[in-house]
Amino acid sequence: MEKNIIAVSACLLGVNCKYNGKNNLNLKVVEYIKGKEVILICPEELGGLSTPRIPSEIQKNGLVINKEGIDVTKQFNQGALEALKIMHDANANCVILKDGSPSCGYNFIYDGSFSSTRIAGKGISARYFTENGIKIIDLET
Ligand code: SF4
Repeated sequence: MEKNIIAVSACLLGVNCKYNGKNNLNLKVVEYIKGKEVILICPEELGGLSTPRIPSEIQKNGLVINKEGIDVTKQFNQGALEALKIMHDANANCVILKDGSPSCGYNFIYDGSFSSTRIAGKGISARYFTENGIKIIDLET
């Protein structure tokens, strides 16, 4: 039987790769992956952004802009492609993502105004993954 390798947003498993240098450790995810083979991805780090970093949000025009007004769309796209490549190389065809992130969000993201306003939508990486046939395992809803 073909192995089912699961990719996981690294911050969900306690890696301090979040913009503020912290993580999003999620015990539901820890429980779910028990006995399974996983690979960790952090698209924002894979795109060359440092940790900690200035938080970013996707704007209405589709660009990703950080809170200081810098356009980081290129890094977000690059990180998504790198993550996708890692998943393809590892034969991972499903992923557990951190919702709400401008990279990994899959049910919701923030509206681009840095006012903690949620809107339905997907982050840059979640979009790439879906378009390339990767299944998102939803443990957040
Ligand atoms: Fe977590 Fe994804 Fe943000 Fe990296 S890019 S810190 S994996 S939510």
